[in-house]
Amino acid sequence: MEKIHFSTQLWFGDDALSELQVIQGKKIFIVTDPFIVESGMATEITKHITNSEYFIFSDIVPDPPIEKVIAGIQAMSNFGANTIIAIGGGSAIDAAKAMKYFGKRTMNLDIEQFIAIPTTSGTGSEVTNFAVITVAETATKYPLVTDEIQPDIAILDTNMVMSVPPKVTADTGMDVLTHVIEAYVSKEANGVADAFCEKVVKLVFDNLETAYKDGSNRKARANMHLASCMAGMAFNLTSLGLNHGIAHAAGARLHVPHGRMNAILLPNVIEFNANVNQGALQDNEVAKRYMALANCIGTTTTNPRIGVQNLVRAIKQLRQRLSMPATLSEFGLSKSDVLAQKTEIAIAAMADNCTDTNPRHPSVAEIEALIQEIS
Ligand code: NAD
Repeated sequence: MEKIHFSTQLWFGDDALSELQVIQGKKIFIVTDPFIVESGMATEITKHITNSEYFIFSDIVPDPPIEKVIAGIQAMSNFGANTIIAIGGGSAIDAAKAMKYFGKRTMNLDIEQFIAIPTTSGTGSEVTNFAVITVAETATKYPLVTDEIQPDIAILDTNMVMSVPPKVTADTGMDVLTHVIEAYVSKEANGVADAFCEKVVKLVFDNLETAYKDGSNRKARANMHLASCMAGMAFNLTSLGLNHGIAHAAGARLHVPHGRMNAILLPNVIEFNANVNQGALQDNEVAKRYMALANCIGTTTTNPRIGVQNLVRAIKQLRQRLSMPATLSEFGLSKSDVLAQKTEIAIAAMADNCTDTNPRHPSVAEIEALIQEIS
């Protein structure tokens, strides 16, 4: 038997932010990054906070390090917060999640309500029980997975993503695509998550290139924002796979933006999972799942091998139209530096809990080979 429970309320539509007025008499700790304050976006949100005190902690940086989480917990305690609003991309939302979780354990801080307002269309963190925190000394990105960090409310406002620059639009959009492709073939895949994945893959192929080339296109932005959130709802049910396992391990060491790392890996991980080099794929259930996804974006085939090829080709073409690198060398890293770290990355990827739900169990040598292919 399976039980599915979505505990995050979704507020979206024109006046979603103004609903913040229902929060009265609270001490609100706002977690965000410097851009969100400097751009005036934080003010756009705080103007809707009435009859509550707030404090803005705006020190978050991409791939949030544990030190920022510790500093945030201290500031949260000094302020006496009982509510958190996280505003930003995955980095700010994840940092806020870790502050809530570790604040309770280290300083007995009780947060009554946790609200997430995403300003990128990528991680889906606003609706997941998942956060990723970086520990620099061990060059590791740790996934923290617990229902305790699931936001109570997620506010989706397209105005919050209109300013995302093209490169970040491409990176985060490919993160969305990776989430649903991994969720669809996950060992925990189920019919409810499938419905989100099939919708999202189409939304991404129909809207990401437009959002990248014309950031002022509201419809494309709104569709990508919804796609990102639905992808989060999908992988919250199924977890992810090897692509994210390697991206976490490599991202912490090589400092490649998360979505770009996922996009570089995606075609190779699909081919590995579908076992394309081994015999016929006619009875390969993973290949059939990839074929089904490929058929959602306009191709039609009943041959799993052709289905996998169609999906891989479509991803590579989209990546090219988004001017994204196909390899780490194209991204600007030295091949020898990457290869020198391949065993460390492979071992860390094996230990990442996203890898547990990958449809094909990899060996360290197989992950090393994948890293070699994308170097
Ligand atoms: P991010 O939060 O790191 O932001 C990237 C950059 O975009 C930052 O410089 C930020 O200031 C800027 N930015 C954010 N909003 C903007 C806006 N509206 N206009 C202009 N610039 C804006 O990027 P991200 O891809 O959203 O998050 C990546 C992080 O999320 C990584 O640490 C990754 O591991 C994690 N992640 C978490 C989950 C999850 O479920 N919790 C899933 C996938 C990834």
